[in-house]
Amino acid sequence: MKSILIKNVFFENRKRNILIEKGRFKSLDAADGAVARLVIDATGKAILPALYNTHTHTPMTLLRGYADDMPLERWLTNYVWPYENNMTDDDFGRGSNLAAKEMVSSGTVFFNEMYFGIHKSVDAAVVSGMRAAIGLSVLGGHKHTLSADMIDAMEDLKDPTGGRICFTVAPHSVYTVPPEEIKKCAQVARRKGLRIHIHCAETKTEVANCVRDYGMRPVELLDSLGVLGPDVILAHCVQVTEKEVDILAERQAVISHCPCSNMKLGSGRFPYELMIKAGCRITLGTDGASSGNNLDLREAMKFAALLAKSAGDPVLLPAEQVFDWATRAGAEAFGIDAGEIRVGKLADCLLVDLGNVRMQPCHNLISNFVYSADSSCIDAVICDGNIIYNRI
Ligand SMILES: [Zn+2]
Repeated sequence: MKSILIKNVFFENRKRNILIEKGRFKSLDAADGAVARLVIDATGKAILPALYNTHTHTPMTLLRGYADDMPLERWLTNYVWPYENNMTDDDFGRGSNLAAKEMVSSGTVFFNEMYFGIHKSVDAAVVSGMRAAIGLSVLGGHKHTLSADMIDAMEDLKDPTGGRICFTVAPHSVYTVPPEEIKKCAQVARRKGLRIHIHCAETKTEVANCVRDYGMRPVELLDSLGVLGPDVILAHCVQVTEKEVDILAERQAVISHCPCSNMKLGSGRFPYELMIKAGCRITLGTDGASSGNNLDLREAMKFAALLAKSAGDPVLLPAEQVFDWATRAGAEAFGIDAGEIRVGKLADCLLVDLGNVRMQPCHNLISNFVYSADSSCIDAVICDGNIIYNRI
């Protein structure tokens, strides 16, 4: 792991030298003569924390544009699942690698994955230099599914990077996995010290079917099974009542808000006001490229903010807050000691080109990055103290 000196970089309103050693920020105000194995001249660039994507299905990049503009249930049953049944290991690898390239080039250093062919997602994280939480996916009736018992028997869950990769147990949802199996998944996860990753309360149909079949709404059902806790990541949580939001806050479960996927599938508006009032832990995800069509978490920040404001109040979800969800909160949810440019923190960061037309003028760096930037503004991405993307 090389030491890196980033010279003349714009941070907190002035130019500084930032020193990275052993994968962590060593100094945010290093002397000009500081010694490092690699020196980067970052004149005209700003440093920002990198982004953490808390809900992905990376091989689904192969389904980008395959089936658009229809409800979730028809999209899954008639298009996605039949396509997936024909996917091979090579497809999983191609899709994951494509996804990793797209994520890195748009400033993301971590993805929370739920899919099949897990060794291919692990490979994509290893090769790209990203961090990842790889889901051991359970999806009833699916050709490639695992089961709680199979996961329980796995003894070879190793992180080949020595710290960047962890595993989760990922029962797909309450509409594809029976309650007893979800409960077993949670028990296996906790026995093995793994987090749990599940879709929850994405659409009105999911809620109606859950009430019909189990007499409870999805969050209530998961809570009755003892699943909810600070080690659980729930994707979506769009169709939730105030009572369910209170349960999520009480259990300190992590919510992965995926605004682009929710809007494109017409799933509904994320109940931002209720979540904030209750004190929920909120992070940001893109979902797969088949529903959100890209894996650009920076873009998801903008859509999340606009979606919140679409209720008719421009004060809702300011740029700084949604930026915090995509950075510090995302890292914290997975126990990654990063997400902030601070001495001692893991060195995950971006160098942003202040000369890019989308960044000018720069009255407010975070505002520009959330509302105006695109991937062309990102010049370099550093993860775990290594440069994993560089256009400087
Ligand atoms: Zn999803």
